[in-house]
Amino acid sequence: MSSTTRSSAVPTVSEIEGRPDPPVGGFGAAVEVRNVSRRFGPVEALRGVDLDVTPGELVLVTGRSGSGKSTLLNVIGGLDEPDGGEVLIDRKPIWRKADLSAARRDLVGFVFQQHLLMDELSARANIEVPLIGAGVPRSARRARAFELLAEVGLNERGDHLPSMLSGGERQRVAVARALANRPRLLLADEPTGALESVTSARLIELLLSLRNRHGTTMVIVSYDREVRKRADRTVTLVDGRIAPARARG
Ligand code: ADP
Ligand code: MG
Repeated sequence: MSSTTRSSAVPTVSEIEGRPDPPVGGFGAAVEVRNVSRRFGPVEALRGVDLDVTPGELVLVTGRSGSGKSTLLNVIGGLDEPDGGEVLIDRKPIWRKADLSAARRDLVGFVFQQHLLMDELSARANIEVPLIGAGVPRSARRARAFELLAEVGLNERGDHLPSMLSGGERQRVAVARALANRPRLLLADEPTGALESVTSARLIELLLSLRNRHGTTMVIVSYDREVRKRADRTVTLVDGRIAPARARG
C-alpha cells in the first residue's frame, strides 16, 4: 500500500470513525501543486514538487528540519512565490490572480507554530482582524468572533489579552482567527510545536473536529503521532522533493 496515493483500499478518517463524510462537492478546496521549485540563493528549498490534495483531505507533511516543509506551505498559501511550476486551488492558479491577498483571505487560513497574535488586542479583537480586512461590518464581526470563540472552547476568554492566556489557549485563538473567513483550506505549520503534550493533543483534536464538521481541506506539518495516525495521507519531504512512497509495515 502506498502512502502517497490514496487508493480505495485506504479508508478515510470518517469511514474509520463512523462520522459522515463532508458534503458532496464539499466545502474544502482542491489543491494541485505542479512541479514547484523555490530557491533561496544557492539553496534549493523545493525541487519540482508535485502534490494533489482532494477536497476535505487531511494531508500530513513530514520531513527533517530544512527539508522544505514551511516553504511548501507558504507557496501553497500564497505567502511565497515559487520560481517555477504552479499551484492551483480549485483549478485556479493562485499566483496569477490579480488580487492575491483576496484569494488568501477568502480561501486560505494559516496556523503557525508561533501564534502571532497581537499582544495589545483581546482574544476577540484578534479574531476580528481578518474580518476587518474582509470588510465585515462591526456587529457581524463581533457575532462571528463570539461564534468562533465558542467553537474553539474559549467562550469565557474573549476579553483576555494574549498574555493572560495559556500557550494552548493562545493557539486556539490563532485557530479561531485562521477560521474567521471560513477558509476552504487550512494550512498549519507545526501548530503544536510550542505546546506540551496534553495541550498539543487537545489542539490536534480541535483541528480534526473542525475538519470533520466543515470538510475543510487541511495540510499540516507536524511530528505528532496522533496527526500521523489520523491523516488520510502522509507525504515526506527530503531535500526539497517528495520522497517516493514507502510501504507501510
Ligand atoms: P522546514 O520547514 O522543512 O524546516 P524550510 O522550508 O523552512 O524547511 O527551509 C528549506 C530550506 O530553505 C532550508 O535550507 C532553509 O534554510 C532555506 N530557506 C527557507 N526560507 C528561507 C529564506 N527566507 N531565505 C533563505 N533561505 C531560506
Ligand atoms: Mg518549517
